[in-house]
Amino acid sequence: MIKNVTGIVIKQKEWGERDLLVSLLSDEGERLDLVVKGAGDGKSKRKNHIELMNRIKGTVYDSPRHAYLQTVECEESFFHLKQHFERVFQVYVLLEVIEQSTLPENADPQLYELLEATLTHLNQKSVSCLGAEIGLVKWGEALGILPSFRVCGDCHKNLADGAHWNHDKQVVLCQDCTLPHCEELPLKYRKALEFFKSATFQECSSIVFQEEEVFKLRELIPYLLRGHLEKPLKSLMAF
Ligand SMILES: [Zn+2]
Repeated sequence: MIKNVTGIVIKQKEWGERDLLVSLLSDEGERLDLVVKGAGDGKSKRKNHIELMNRIKGTVYDSPRHAYLQTVECEESFFHLKQHFERVFQVYVLLEVIEQSTLPENADPQLYELLEATLTHLNQKSVSCLGAEIGLVKWGEALGILPSFRVCGDCHKNLADGAHWNHDKQVVLCQDCTLPHCEELPLKYRKALEFFKSATFQECSSIVFQEEEVFKLRELIPYLLRGHLEKPLKSLMAF
């Protein structure tokens, strides 16, 4: 059976000697693993089209063993994003989280729209310094795996004063409920994280952060999702 597909390349790896396996997040929010015959060959023209992060359009042939990407055309390569080394590295983390957390049973077109909106934002000239991380927060919220940053995950009281992140239980705890080995979560971070869940990228860009705060949030945000993933994030080890 042959069908049309549109999606964003979230992973690529070698497949046999001459082929590549690309993983797409399709516009229906489904993760598709597709063999691209001959694309591992240096001379392949299709190889440029299926670069990581590209939005592609193509045809898929479904066989009982594998699905094959046949014709393929890159619709958007997010060229400006790819000119910024730092942005690319941050997107790697996002793509790895997406790759690990996109399950066939929770396919949702909104997840695709979210990834596309994140890449589109990061493809602009001036972007939020936390663009990819805001995308991660939104992804976690869409999957329902983020804790509340407003109320305590144990006693449900308002987190007015101090609050701590507990990685084992994946919750934010108030002063009274906090446990050993929790990490302090300042009010500014909690407010920003709660805001990132639902505000637009442009609205998020209006929050001013000090360099040190950017650094902390960049470190913290993937950590908030990590407990829900099966494998450690390889792209984080590169930092
Ligand atoms: Zn509490």
